[in-house]
Amino acid sequence: MTGGDESGPQPGEHTPVTPDWTCGTCGDDWPCHTKRTRLLDEYRVDRASLSVYLGSCLAAASQDLRAAPVSSLQDRFIGWVPRNPRTA
Ligand SMILES: [Zn+2]
Repeated sequence: MTGGDESGPQPGEHTPVTPDWTCGTCGDDWPCHTKRTRLLDEYRVDRASLSVYLGSCLAAASQDLRAAPVSSLQDRFIGWVPRNPRTA
């Protein structure tokens, strides 16, 4: 696991560990609560890009987690994102 690979996930980054899609930092299903909070902060001005990013994660995860129902994966990867009502 360790061995000087500096391109790997860093501690505290809450990156997904495939093919299980668990959090590499806290071990929860990814995206974990901490990661979700960070993503919302990171993409708070560009929620559309967050949807694109999560969609690509969902697509990859659905390849890895074939036993999981698609609906539950959608809920897990995308369903948590709060919908911003458009305020013109
Ligand atoms: Zn985590």
